[in-house]
This record gives sequence, C-alpha cells and structure tokens, in this order.
Amino acid sequence: MFREMRRKGNALSQEETIAILEKNTNGVLAVDGDDDYPYAVPLSYVYSDGKILFHCAVTGHKLDGIKNNEKVSFCVIDQDDIIPEDFNTLYRSAIAFGKARVVTDDQEKQQALELVIAKYSPAFMESGKEYIAKEWERCLVVEIKIEHLTGKAGD
Ligand SMILES: Cc1cc2nc3c(=O)[nH]c(=O)nc-3n(C[C@H](O)[C@H](O)[C@H](O)COP(=O)(O)OP(=O)(O)OC[C@H]3O[C@@H](n4cnc5c(N)ncnc54)[C@H](O)[C@@H]3O)c2cc1C
Repeated sequence: MFREMRRKGNALSQEETIAILEKNTNGVLAVDGDDDYPYAVPLSYVYSDGKILFHCAVTGHKLDGIKNNEKVSFCVIDQDDIIPEDFNTLYRSAIAFGKARVVTDDQEKQQALELVIAKYSPAFMESGKEYIAKEWERCLVVEIKIEHLTGKAGD
C-alpha cells in the first residue's frame, strides 16, 4: 500500500533513517486538515521504539485533524547543503507514515514527557519533572505508531 521510492539508489537503510529521527530536534507533521486542505505543522518530537511522540496543548488544528483521521505522516530534514554551482542540494531526510493517537494512560504520558525532557533538557531532569507536574492538565501527548519509514539522500 505504501509506495516504493522511485530512485532506489538514493534510499537509506532503516538504521540510517532511524538515526535521522533520533538525531534531529524538529519535524513536520502532516494531518488531514480543515476543508480537505492538508495541514503541515512543525513540532519537537522524540523517536522511541518505532514511535514518534510529541506533546502539545489540549486543543488546536492538528489535534482536530488527528481526531478526524488518525493517518498522518511526519518528515524530518537531516541535511540541506546547497551547491549553487551544481544547481543541486545535498540532502538527507526521513518520512514516516503511521497512525496517531492521544495517549490516555497517565503512566505512558509521564514516560513520554520524561523522554522529551531527556532529549531537549537532559541537564534539567528534576526541574523538568516539576514542570511536567505543573503543566500536566494543559498538555497532551500524541503517539504516532510508525507503519512505513523511508530515508533518502540526494547527491
Ligand atoms: C521548531 C518548532 C518546534 C515546535 N515544537 C512544538 C511542540 O513540541 N509541541 C507543540 O504543540 N507545538 C510545537 N511547535 C509549535 C507548532 O508549530 C504549532 O504552532 C502549535 O503546536 C499549535 O498547533 P495547532 O495546530 O494546535 O495550532 P492552531 O492555533 O490551532 O492553528 C491554527 C492555525 O494557525 C496557524 N499556525 C499554527 N502553528 C503555526 C506555525 N508553527 N507556524 C505558522 N502558522 C501556524 C495555521 O494557519 C493553523 O491552521 C513548534 C514549532 C516549531 C517551529
């Protein structure tokens, strides 16, 4: 059901692609938006064990999109080096397709938020936990279970 990459020679391995997800600090989530318009929105995220996790406010456009249609995609750009004289760009990127759900289990939510702190504020774990407690009711965690993951490098 998911498409093959046309230029197979540019495909990265699953290991290389997961490394892109692990290394980078933002990606673009694409959801089924309002009035049949796709909605692509930049987010911080964590990759963990075949899943992409992000936190967000309890309402908003992207959440409505996910509630209407759980199928989403998520793109991370790892490299974007422009070579003007060659009219070319050296690029590496990853694209994941999967199903998104709001995490409803408190323990899972806590674990996901701690993963966010560990990635983005590793030196502040203890104050991060206090921050999680303070913001608990004002935030949600969304999990995207990856069903199809590709990486591509252009040379
Ligand atoms: C690098 C980066 C990391 C971020 N990390 C997170 C994160 O981890 N969690 C999180 O919740 N948010 C994060 N944001 C903010 C995120 O992009 C959204 O602005 C936010 O999540 C609100 O989305 P929404 O659909 O609920 O907004 P809504 O306010 O419901 O969106 C309404 C409309 O506002 C416009 N809009 C919303 N967001 C943006 C935007 N970023 N740029 C331009 N127009 C916009 C769009 O037209 C959208 O249709 C991050 C942004 C950046 C750039």
